[in-house]
Amino acid sequence: YQGKRGTNGIVVYSGATAGQPHQWLVVQAELRHALERDELILHYQPKVALPGGDVCGVEALVRWQHPERGLLPPGEFLPAAEHSGLIVPLTEWVLRRALADQLGWTATGHDWALSVNVSARNLEVPGFAGLVLDLLAEAGIPSHRLVLEVTETALAADADEAARAVAELSAAGVGVSVDDFGTGYTNLSHLRGLPITEIKIDRSFVTDVVRDPESQAIVRSVIELAHGLGSRATAEGVETEEVRRWLADAGCDEAQGYLFSRPVPWTQISAQPHLEGVSR
Ligand code: C2E
Ligand code: MG
Ligand code: MG
Ligand code: MG
Repeated sequence: YQGKRGTNGIVVYSGATAGQPHQWLVVQAELRHALERDELILHYQPKVALPGGDVCGVEALVRWQHPERGLLPPGEFLPAAEHSGLIVPLTEWVLRRALADQLGWTATGHDWALSVNVSARNLEVPGFAGLVLDLLAEAGIPSHRLVLEVTETALAADADEAARAVAELSAAGVGVSVDDFGTGYTNLSHLRGLPITEIKIDRSFVTDVVRDPESQAIVRSVIELAHGLGSRATAEGVETEEVRRWLADAGCDEAQGYLFSRPVPWTQISAQPHLEGVSR
């Protein structure tokens, strides 16, 4: 319970109220309706190849077009979705919607890969890998054009079911990305033997990388780790040209961030966002 009591005794909630247990119940009930009423939407943030800057993929990021509260970011409702198990139908909705959108951009001549975030909870549900492969087959999209982003903690959880799901998906050609790398609870031994195709360097290390020697050491090591494991290194949260240049010089493969584009509907993504100066 972290709501602040105002001077009149009324409890004032901050934006983080979705984290409060009783508030979760409200969010849960509303979210169930939101799924039925199609109130969720997907925005996409491009991933660009370094140093060139061409878009090589897009990441789907869910938002909730709430009838009263406006457009809500995932931090406002994902904790409640995970807590309640609604994350299972939510992820299925995201996958269906995103694969349909991918057919749209493919039809307009773009071969961008699609990245979708999945929660630890999803990986633990038996049959998750089969569902993903069925959805790909239904859409007629080759599995190598889908990447699932999973946090370190989800991968490190000693869940056999999760490990099996990741193995089955990667054997079928689906990419596996470790999201927010460096912030979780890193047991590097968990990375051994995992079929990882990408490591995403957390924004907290990227932001100060031009000036902070410790961030530089960490980012360089993660790039080397990614390459040593045979995967790509992608930097999150690139906001300035000097950060982009530093990362390109350090051998980082791909980048994402407001410098190139904020998350937007896919129809607003241009093929070379930083060259065309879209949505800075
Ligand atoms: P993430 O997967 O690490 O996504 C990156 C987040 O950083 C996004 O926030 C994005 O808008 C933001 N971002 C990107 N570039 C920059 C930048 O240059 N500067 C700054 N300050 N921020 C940047 P968003 O959309 O609020 O998503 C937050 C998190 O919610 C995501 O982190 C992801 O973990 C989760 N999420 C989003 N969509 C889904 C989904 O469909 N399913 C699941 N399970 N999780 C999702
Ligand atoms: Mg992500
Ligand atoms: Mg991330
Ligand atoms: Mg992040």
